[in-house]
Amino acid sequence: MSAAQKVLLVTGGSRGIGAAVCRQGSRAGYRVAINYASNRAAADALVAEIKAAGGDAFAVKGDVGSEADILGIFEAVDRTHGRLDAFVNNAGIVDAKARVDEMSAARLERMMRINVVGSILCAREAVKRMSTRHGGSGGSIVNLSSAAAVLGAPDNYVDYAASKGAIDTLTIGLAREVAAEGIRVNAVRPGIIDTDIHASGGQPDRVALIQDTLPMKRAGTADEVAGAILYLLSDAASYTTGAILNVSGGR
Ligand code: NAP
Repeated sequence: MSAAQKVLLVTGGSRGIGAAVCRQGSRAGYRVAINYASNRAAADALVAEIKAAGGDAFAVKGDVGSEADILGIFEAVDRTHGRLDAFVNNAGIVDAKARVDEMSAARLERMMRINVVGSILCAREAVKRMSTRHGGSGGSIVNLSSAAAVLGAPDNYVDYAASKGAIDTLTIGLAREVAAEGIRVNAVRPGIIDTDIHASGGQPDRVALIQDTLPMKRAGTADEVAGAILYLLSDAASYTTGAILNVSGGR
C-alpha cells in the first residue's frame, strides 16, 4: 500500500531529526502531525513549509513528560484525522555533561520521565489506535534510541545512555507483544547527528570537537537518520520488527 492519505505523528517533530522525518514523510505522501514542546514558531514554520510544498501538516503542542499532554497530542490527531498509521517516538532530551557521582535525583527523574516513561506512554497510545485487538487496522512505530545505549556515554551522560537502553528493550518487547496485531515496532540508533540537541545539553561545539574521531570523520545529518526511519515505517520493511538499526556512521 502506498503511504497516500496515511497519517504520521512525530513527537518532537518541529526541529532536528523529527523535522527531517516530517519533511520526508510528507514527500512520501503521509499527512503529518508535528508535536513540539514549546517552540511554536519552529513548528508553525515547518507546517507552512510542508503546506507550501503541497503537503498536509498540523502542529500540536505537548510535553511528552506529561501524561495529560500525551493524551492531548493523540486526541488532536484523532480529531483532525481519525486515524493513525505511523508513529515516530522521537522527542528526547540530553542534560549537561556530568559523571554519575554528580547527578541529582531531580535530573534523573526528568531524564527518565521524558525519555523513558514518555516514550512508553506514547507507544501505549499509538498501540491503542493501531492494534487490530482494539479495532485498528495496524501500523508502524519507530523509536529513537541512540548509539549511547551501547556505548554508555561515560563522562558525558550515562543517564541518557541508560534511558536509550530502555528504548532498545521497549522496542524488542513491544514488537513481540503486538506483532500479531498488525503493528511493527523498530528503532534507530543514531550516532553523533548535527542538531541543536548538543547545544541544549550545554555542548554547542560537540559535533565540531568529536567529528574527527568518528569513523567517517563527520557527524551524520538529520536527513540521514530520517531516511532510515522512513524505510522502517514503510511497507518495504514489512517483515522487519523488533529491529534496532544503527545509523551511526560505523561508530
Ligand atoms: P533536537 O534537535 O533537540 O529537537 C528536539 C525536538 O524535540 C524539538 O522538536 C523539541 O520541541 C522537541 N522536544 C523536546 N523536549 C520535548 C518534550 N518534553 N516533549 C515534546 N517534544 C519535545 O533533538 P534531535 O537531536 O533531533 O533528537 C531527536 C531524538 O533523536 C531524541 O530522542 C534524541 O535522543 C535522539 N538522538 C539524537 C542524536 C543526535 O546526535 N542529535 C543522537 C542519538 C539519538 P521544541 O522545538 O518545542 O523545543
